[in-house]
Amino acid sequence: MANNSLNTGIKLVKNVGSFNIGAGSLDELPAHVDARRASAIKQGGEGKVVFLIDEFFAGQPATLSRLGAKEQDRIEFVSTRDEPKTEAIDLRVAGLVKAGFSKPATIVGLGGGITLDTAKAVSNLLTNGGLAEQYQGWDLVKVPGIHKIGVPTISGTGAEATRTCVMTNTRNGLKLGMNSDHTVFNHLVLDPELTATVPRSQYFYTGMDAYIHCVESMAGSYRNAIGDAYSRETISLCRQAFLAEDMMSPESRERLMVASYLGGCAIATSYVGLIHPFSAGLSVVLGLHHCVANCIVMRAMDEFYPKACEEFWTMVERQRVTIPENICSGLTDEQYSALYDATVIHQKPLTNALGSNYLEVLTFDKVTSLFLKM
Ligand code: NAD
Ligand code: ZN
Repeated sequence: MANNSLNTGIKLVKNVGSFNIGAGSLDELPAHVDARRASAIKQGGEGKVVFLIDEFFAGQPATLSRLGAKEQDRIEFVSTRDEPKTEAIDLRVAGLVKAGFSKPATIVGLGGGITLDTAKAVSNLLTNGGLAEQYQGWDLVKVPGIHKIGVPTISGTGAEATRTCVMTNTRNGLKLGMNSDHTVFNHLVLDPELTATVPRSQYFYTGMDAYIHCVESMAGSYRNAIGDAYSRETISLCRQAFLAEDMMSPESRERLMVASYLGGCAIATSYVGLIHPFSAGLSVVLGLHHCVANCIVMRAMDEFYPKACEEFWTMVERQRVTIPENICSGLTDEQYSALYDATVIHQKPLTNALGSNYLEVLTFDKVTSLFLKM
């Protein structure tokens, strides 16, 4: 460990309790849900279940009919227009309590990172009480959340595996999750058939999050032997998927689903580097979603990650996707300073990438010139 300021303090690493994997494994979900109902009823509960589902699936009755939902349950569709906000999470929790779902037997989150993070946050709040913003930080969640099952429908962020759920605080703009062992899913269903309908460009942007996380952590000074092993395999699986003829073939979709899960396990024990802080700047100041923002940042990272950048652009070309450009030209002085502030605030990943004197490299002019390449 090269730098003590990067000590995570995490001595024990918690992983997801159990998972099903493989094409068609969605059909295993009802048995898990029913087992939770039965145990809740045994303990005097009603055995009702909450399903939080990505809005895309509102138009997919064939998938909805396979989840094991019953009339007594609550199905809520989660909008993906905005990434999760603390206020929206609080409203959803209040709505569930009002509707009599304060102690469901389990919460099923089915969707992308937005929906999975929403399920994690709601689960913690139903048992811990209070407001989402009170738990933004490290190890602030006091008691286990409601049992929760994650079903990812797009691969890359690793949200299915991590101990956080990213939320933006509507009051102060802080983008930070509930980093806690209690945030980890109890069970996952990893069914690569579910990702067949993702639009190609979105599939690429989100999938690249796994590759980028691991490239950053492998290039950093803070290293963890298990994290490195997860990262190496994640990068290898991403290469197999994105350098293949078709990143969305059944084989590629299965590889990427595994890469996403392993990539999530990797970041749980390590740090990202330069790309995520710049990406966070784009999200906070310009409102871009996380995964597309990462890809835009790759336009300016060749001096820091030359090999990964070369490979990234080969993958872009191979899969014929478009990465937005000229995002930062013609902004106001206030916007450039907001971009600078929102980037350099990420002390730990930037220290991991450049050392504790990272501000000597990342001067205002340097950071602005990098944003202008995007
Ligand atoms: P998303 O939830 O943002 O969804 C992206 C789009 O894909 C949406 O339009 C959604 O409706 C659509 N979609 C999802 N599955 C689909 C399917 N099977 N078919 C068709 N359309 C589908 O997806 P994301 O990129 O996985 O998640 C981004 C979020 O993840 C951000 O909020 C980010 O902050 C968060 N994140 C969390 C972690 C974590 O550890 N918790 C890590 C990284 C990112
Ligand atoms: Zn990410």
